Amino acid sequence: MTNPQRAPHLPLGEKRGGRLYGQHILSVKQFSREDIEAIFVIAEEMRTMVERVGTFDLLKGKLLASLFYEPSTRTSSSFTAAMERLGGSVIPISEVRYSSVSKGESLPDTVRTLECYSDVIVLRHPEVGAAATAARYVRKPIINAGDGIGEHPTQALLDLFTIREELGNLDGLTVTMLGDLKNGRTVHSLSRLLTLFHARINLVSPEMLRMPPEIMEELAAKGVTLSEHRELESVLPNTDVLYVTRVQKERFADEADYLAHKDAYVITPATLTQAKQKMIVMHPLPRVGEISMDVDDDPRAAYFRQMEYGLYVRMALLAMVLGKA
Ligand code: ASP
Repeated sequence: MTNPQRAPHLPLGEKRGGRLYGQHILSVKQFSREDIEAIFVIAEEMRTMVERVGTFDLLKGKLLASLFYEPSTRTSSSFTAAMERLGGSVIPISEVRYSSVSKGESLPDTVRTLECYSDVIVLRHPEVGAAATAARYVRKPIINAGDGIGEHPTQALLDLFTIREELGNLDGLTVTMLGDLKNGRTVHSLSRLLTLFHARINLVSPEMLRMPPEIMEELAAKGVTLSEHRELESVLPNTDVLYVTRVQKERFADEADYLAHKDAYVITPATLTQAKQKMIVMHPLPRVGEISMDVDDDPRAAYFRQMEYGLYVRMALLAMVLGKA
């Protein structure tokens, strides 16, 4: 681990050690391949335990503060489900307008408050770098659940886990990312993680929604084979993972630009006739038209299974940062 922000405060009686114990999870850049393998071993164990017993007491007595300044369905509910399946409890603050944030309280003061009551803080915020800022003010682990157009590290870990579970391996795959690559934080994180696995990455987007050049430079410097396209057709036949994203309406200053791009790509059963039989279609969700519902019954449509994998990965992460894995 290279994360320098190891929380210095070890609660008394806590089992010490473990790869992520006491760590903030701010960016995928902090993970090595070994870290990821360790997370996935524990995620597999979590899956077995959930299937066998549903809920168990690994994190009994632990509290998670769930602080969301932006909307969420899957991330917030899967962290809550993860904590409760591990026997812990959650302080949910999803409507910050009903909290003291609406009175003008700063992010540092809000997280300093929550660390008095909880053992780990899950934070989603519209500003890039907000989780890293919050982490400077608290000793308890902060988990970045999305910082604006920055990163979404736990999503990328569950995306990678999905690929491994569905395709059986992670090395040397051709991953095609489609849609709003400029504003989509999930692709910013996933593409960085894929640099550890010798991936070939095809970036397919409208000109206006290209992957930010600084991220492309970062990927290229790590030796990834990258190519950019405006159309899906030429790259689909060789694709192992088609990762579809929503055009991120909330990030557009001009609604006309959003309207001009929102239907740039729509995946239908006809699209998939050009794809391999052994490949998967992923989407972080919510989808708003970019994958037609007729695709859902295709066995290659992995986006609903992807959500379930997210539960096991988030259970693993919580157990690890709290020193119980
Ligand atoms: N749910 C994902 C996110 O929070 C993807 C999206 O909103 O399009 O980034």
